Amino acid sequence: MLPENPNTFAKFPLDKAGLRRKDAAWLAEAVNAADARLSLFQDMKPFILDENDKRSVAWLGPQARALIGEKALCVFLGIDAQGAPHFAFDLPKRFDLSESPLAGMGAFEDMRPMLPILPADDLAILGCAKSLFEWHAKHGFCAQCGGRSAVVDGGWKRVCDACGAEHFPRVDPVVIMLPVRGDHCCMGRQARFPRGMWSALAGFVEPGETIEEAVARETLEEAGLVVEAVKLHSSQPWPFPSSLMIGAIAEVAVGDINVDMDELDEARWFSRAEIKTMLAGKHESAWAPPPFAIAHQLLKSWSEEA
Ligand SMILES: [Zn+2]
Repeated sequence: MLPENPNTFAKFPLDKAGLRRKDAAWLAEAVNAADARLSLFQDMKPFILDENDKRSVAWLGPQARALIGEKALCVFLGIDAQGAPHFAFDLPKRFDLSESPLAGMGAFEDMRPMLPILPADDLAILGCAKSLFEWHAKHGFCAQCGGRSAVVDGGWKRVCDACGAEHFPRVDPVVIMLPVRGDHCCMGRQARFPRGMWSALAGFVEPGETIEEAVARETLEEAGLVVEAVKLHSSQPWPFPSSLMIGAIAEVAVGDINVDMDELDEARWFSRAEIKTMLAGKHESAWAPPPFAIAHQLLKSWSEEA
């Protein structure tokens, strides 16, 4: 059993069928199977049905292939518990919704506003599809020789036509941590945050360091605090565009906060009681990220510890 994970985009519900997706003939049959389920994207936005203000993911049957056309990039997402294969199609910009049979049924929607609305299973699947499409959109050419590369394995690999180099979808690990000392935690604000919002500290993991070392380095760089112990909390795929957020609680030594103004606008200590008030939406001036953000889950679990 995998550990419980409270994070949006976690708990991918499909069997990715890593061996079968290498079989082009099997994929071609699966995408036309009677129980195939197809989702559509355009410009990194999934097509969302809107029926009487109730939003849901449009999972279409194989007959939708006729309106998708042959040019759309197709990725294989996996097989559900009933055996139904799932695919996503990235429609070209010239695809005009208003002239398709889907007109009036919904729209291609930005994923962020959909996070509190859509079911967890659908978000995990669509998040995976979005990260794959983001990668394909930027990796049409080989990083080794500059030649054009082709999509294989149901969208999980590209192979260079010229030199044969293989390229795999990227995942960018990011550490996101709550520095804590006794009954207080440190949070920061970036200039781009909405007014009053505070969050955990975060940064990309760099080559040559462990997750724990990245937590210590970023905490020191951003807030001037020395990390003495790191406790991993949970992780979260974050498809904007292809991060893996690795959440941690970082015990810090005695010392003052010293903010790096290039990275943060402000950082300060919050008491456990203050965090509880923030999470309840009752703090007079400060608020925390919403539940779909891993920062919220870090704050929630730390504030409930005592
Ligand atoms: Zn090449």
